[in-house]
Amino acid sequence: LQTNVNFVYELFLGNVSGRDTPIIDLKELHNAIRRSGRRMRIIAKPGNEEIFEDKDVFPRPPPCKSELKPRPPIVTVMGHVDHGKTTLLDALRHSHVVDQEFGGITQHIGAFSVTLDSGAKVTFLDTPGHAAFTAMRARGVNLTDIIVLVVAADDGVMEQTIECISMAQQAKVPILVAINKIDAPKANVKNAEQMLLQKGIQVESLGGDVQTVKISALKRINLEQLTEALAVQAELMEIGGDPTGPVEAVVVDSKIDPHRGRLCTVVVQRGTLKKGDVLVADTALAKVRLLKDEQGNALEEVTPGFPAEIEGWKDLPSAGELVLQVDSEKQARAVIRIREEKKDLEKQQIDKVAIGAKEEMHQKAYKERLQLKRRLGRFKLKNDGPRKPEIVDDNTLPVLHLVLKTDVDGTLEAILQTLSTYNYRECGLDIVNYGVGAVTENDFELAQAFKGVIYAFNVACPNNLQKRAESEGLPIKHHNVIYKLIDTIKQDINELLPPRE
Ligand code: GDP
Repeated sequence: LQTNVNFVYELFLGNVSGRDTPIIDLKELHNAIRRSGRRMRIIAKPGNEEIFEDKDVFPRPPPCKSELKPRPPIVTVMGHVDHGKTTLLDALRHSHVVDQEFGGITQHIGAFSVTLDSGAKVTFLDTPGHAAFTAMRARGVNLTDIIVLVVAADDGVMEQTIECISMAQQAKVPILVAINKIDAPKANVKNAEQMLLQKGIQVESLGGDVQTVKISALKRINLEQLTEALAVQAELMEIGGDPTGPVEAVVVDSKIDPHRGRLCTVVVQRGTLKKGDVLVADTALAKVRLLKDEQGNALEEVTPGFPAEIEGWKDLPSAGELVLQVDSEKQARAVIRIREEKKDLEKQQIDKVAIGAKEEMHQKAYKERLQLKRRLGRFKLKNDGPRKPEIVDDNTLPVLHLVLKTDVDGTLEAILQTLSTYNYRECGLDIVNYGVGAVTENDFELAQAFKGVIYAFNVACPNNLQKRAESEGLPIKHHNVIYKLIDTIKQDINELLPPRE
């Protein structure tokens, strides 16, 4: 059968909410296939999956080279701790502030651009170290064009320098070396270069092709040379961006400002960002109210390779998130709803697996308990008289299943710590779920599945859950003093124990 099949199509036939007829007429489909003269195998999977309107938005396919316009390279500064990354970023940020009078104070917004004397521009991501870089890579985002590897001339190559080298190599991002602290008394540039060569970085001065600039971030020596080298590298790489079409950008920083509300800095990758644009980032929505640079200047528009702080977010997206422009707020809301529903489904799936695994364990323990009971039963008959079993096997014990929710991490840890020191020989303690924050639907369902108890320490339980708990007989116990909560748990354990003879 397979050899005659030209194409295999997989169709998911589901019910559109409220309708129970398939949305595709199979007979019509079959005829269409026959008319096309092709053979196809149809795998139809009936199911209850919701079919969403296809309104999610995705990045466009990569642009043609001919559509690209030159744009500033996006640079991340990396290197070993204390080798001068922060000092370098500070120096770069300030060295090119031309008009302090109008610009006001330079702020950390997550990224900034500098303009060189030649007119070329370079954008720096303002979070030193590799945490931000790895976080973005983990989300599949590759924002960085060039890595500046800062190596202190007095220390040379250190542990994190090596980590950064391998990270850059893995991500296939070219390195430019900045040998820093050339002003330091123990500076030994030659030694640092030799060490780099040993780690596979072919520095220019030793015949390789990795540009190397000797700088002092503290004394601001050769910074212009460093930025020029970056511009040259960008030209060599023919870095370009497409300023047309819907905006695509990446979040590099986000925060809440008491006066200006939710702010988030993005670096534009494609399109031209303007006031009034509607954006979505995961499940966050923005109608762009204001665009600013790191000096607080309002920007009219932002083209690829440039950063901007955006005012107008309804929720706060996190760093590394992809920002996409949509046509209207209505479309944005539809996209967000779809994404939220997808997330809920995924979460439910994960919970289901977790509950399934726990239930399996439960079943196993139950069967073993039954077997033991039978064994003891026979034993009792033979010995003619009551006896207490001395075997203490966890699976045979009654178990208190509990869900623990607390206000902060500290209390959570304190309570878990206290519970872990209790050693009940006659009753098992099974913490089905724990965490910080209000009691959730998920907690409720877990507790219900295990016939357990929810202990809420200094956190609320939504009204609907509280009511459901009352009507369905699920205990939710609220406390705000740790020892009282522990006492309640102890009491609940006692109640599960068989009566003493
Ligand atoms: P980071 O951990 O890589 O961000 O390093 P910092 O920028 O915090 O710098 C660590 C220390 O090195 C600070 O005390 C800086 O003043 C010092 N430092 C940074 N750059 C230079 C430099 O060019 N020359 C000298 N002598 N000290 C520097």
